[in-house]
Amino acid sequence: MESIRKILENRLEEVEGRIAAACTRAGRPREAVTLVAVTKTVSLDTAREILTLGVTNLGENRPQELWKKQAALPEAHWHMIGHLQRNKVEQTAPLVVRIHAVDSLRLLQALEENAQTRGVEQAILLEVNASQEESKQGFAPALVPELVPVLNRLQAVRVCGLMTMAAYTEDPESTRPTFVTLRALLDKLARECDRRRHPLNELSMGMSNDYEVAIEEGATWIRLGTVLFEDLP
Ligand SMILES: *Cc1c(COP(=O)(O)O)cnc(C)c1O
Repeated sequence: MESIRKILENRLEEVEGRIAAACTRAGRPREAVTLVAVTKTVSLDTAREILTLGVTNLGENRPQELWKKQAALPEAHWHMIGHLQRNKVEQTAPLVVRIHAVDSLRLLQALEENAQTRGVEQAILLEVNASQEESKQGFAPALVPELVPVLNRLQAVRVCGLMTMAAYTEDPESTRPTFVTLRALLDKLARECDRRRHPLNELSMGMSNDYEVAIEEGATWIRLGTVLFEDLP
């Protein structure tokens, strides 16, 4: 049987080729896009394997799992990509380079207070329900511009950009409007917010099913699980 390492190597090569091709189509440099390998379905050993293959950004969508894997692999750059409850902020925020799915004002405030207490700057992205599905979390697109005064009052949180999850579809092309919406919202926020505080230049969008379209529309972080880890322990 092929080793897990060999399987991961082959999958990474395939994905890398597709990322590079999408960048070329969009006229973007390859370095503009960073792969976050979403390790939520695999063991610590498999997560370690992809890290040693040079994928330094790893993501988890559940705090407890993130705490566990981060403790074992502290050398990775960890990303919290799922919903975060306020009572898990204290334990999670210090461990990660980005919190991708800030989906409420209450969570934003909790992150602000925590970062002030620790005397650090906290890099986050706001989750937007750009596909407008009822089942999805995140700010409604129409509400995003109204956040400007709130964002401009923050002292410790830095809003790096926006994050979304497109609706799952058989045809990746149909996700394009979701990504276009997210980019337009980012541009609008970037014009209206205090840029000395908020970089507002990152788009976390694109998963296994639709990352090439997301890259064409400006993704800077793509979050891939299935294409890398399907059927691996
Ligand atoms: C699981 C997950 C991903 C990865 O999804 P795949 O379709 O398996 O690539 C990306 N983002 C979030 C928020 C997730 O929970």
